[in-house]
Amino acid sequence: MRFDVVITSDRTMMSNHHGKEFLGFAATGPPIGLPERLWMWMCAPKPKVDKLGRPLEAPYGLRKIEASLVSAGINAAVIDPDHLGKHLKHAKVLMVGHHDFFAMCSPSIEWWLITGSEPLNSRSFKRFMRKPEIREAKKRGLKIIVGGPAAWQWLWRTDYWREFGVDTVVDGEADKVVVELANKALNGEDLPLYVYVGPGEAPSLDEIPDIKGASVNGLVEITRGCPRGCRFCSVTLRPLRHYPLDKIEREIQVNVRAGLKKCILHSEDVFMYGSKGIEPNPDLLTQLHKLAKKYCRVVTWSHVTLALVKYSQEKYNLVSQLTDILYDDNQEWIGVEVGIETGSPRLAEKIMPAKAAPYPASKWPEVVKDAFAIMHEHKVVPAATLILGLPDEREEDVVATLELLDELSNYRSLIVPMFFVPLGLLKDRTWFLRDHLTDQHIEVLRKCLWHSVKWAEDILSHMYLKGVAYAPLRILLKLFLAYVKRKGREVERSLGKAAL
Ligand code: SF4
Repeated sequence: MRFDVVITSDRTMMSNHHGKEFLGFAATGPPIGLPERLWMWMCAPKPKVDKLGRPLEAPYGLRKIEASLVSAGINAAVIDPDHLGKHLKHAKVLMVGHHDFFAMCSPSIEWWLITGSEPLNSRSFKRFMRKPEIREAKKRGLKIIVGGPAAWQWLWRTDYWREFGVDTVVDGEADKVVVELANKALNGEDLPLYVYVGPGEAPSLDEIPDIKGASVNGLVEITRGCPRGCRFCSVTLRPLRHYPLDKIEREIQVNVRAGLKKCILHSEDVFMYGSKGIEPNPDLLTQLHKLAKKYCRVVTWSHVTLALVKYSQEKYNLVSQLTDILYDDNQEWIGVEVGIETGSPRLAEKIMPAKAAPYPASKWPEVVKDAFAIMHEHKVVPAATLILGLPDEREEDVVATLELLDELSNYRSLIVPMFFVPLGLLKDRTWFLRDHLTDQHIEVLRKCLWHSVKWAEDILSHMYLKGVAYAPLRILLKLFLAYVKRKGREVERSLGKAAL
């Protein structure tokens, strides 16, 4: 079977990460402490494929592109990167999506800056683009279109844009524009170099077709966009749209038919699903969770906001209600991404004035603490981000973040410090680089390191990777944690600091 359009990505993206989404984040780091092959196996094992090389599970974003093209009558498919050769002999267009092509997003960039070693995701992507089968197909006239959340990175790496022969970069929600671009390429028309899909051109729900094949770890979108307006964020530029329950159910069914028994509800804030403004909709959220649990043994969340964790629980007892629906013999905890960003109310007011809503930004540290306490009690484990070097950051702001970290120390969580990357409304500001690190920043890095190591050991032993099947992975991760602790102590000694 031949496809006119082949959709793919490199191995760090095209993997189900052993069914453990969080292991995929290990690809944002460089392969240190373990050989690179072992790292790749740990965070990005090869997926199962059919006889045509189509993966059983593929990244949700690629599935959405496939759905748009197939729904428009274009002969397209997602193909595993190890099976491109036979398809690129005939395909006319190659579409490549990625979350972080050149490791310029956080946290990849700070692992690179701190260790001096290139992260796996960027190494793997460059290796992929240099595959002989892609180079040969390019010489025969293959059109290459790239996109995804990291599309902006190509503007900084025009050297690779040229080297890899990329024809078009698509920045923004591509569901609609990708059909037009594919038709142009298939008809031999000229392609634009760069396409920016602004908030005004974002597709409506009716213009977003359901996925046709299973997504990695059963991820399904429940909302798109976010209304909170944090100034450093590009998601916020997109309008908020809620998928109706029947659409979500159809996508869960696609995954279940492929044999998946898990579901990740994807939203910038799961508690925002069906909300009026930012007022949660407990009835709809309850229905959504019952629906997902009807099909799947394990149901988790991609992201929540700390403000709605606190508000939903205090007003509606909602964290308790939803975890009561989800927890059973198959599932006893949830991991989720959250954003702390800063412990400073002053900086929160300037840079993310609505992040604490319905509470005032001046109460931000209190909101964070209360939300962490609620999550700890309900076995919801946050992987939280902090941003160092935000524009207008002062020493007192970093000190406030240090104080907040002390107050979070007893709550089960991972806290990942990130360097400011100029995106969203702040895209004209300066990058935060290693040379800008102050003593207080280094103290934040130390506190986050020891906090996360302590809780990672606890999570690994008691919640994540339990059971015999995961023993090799568990051993590898424990070896890696031992390496991190040893290195951390070495660095502390060189800085003349006592271990925390
Ligand atoms: S809450 Fe999260 S997704 Fe929404 S604007 Fe802020 S950082 Fe972006």
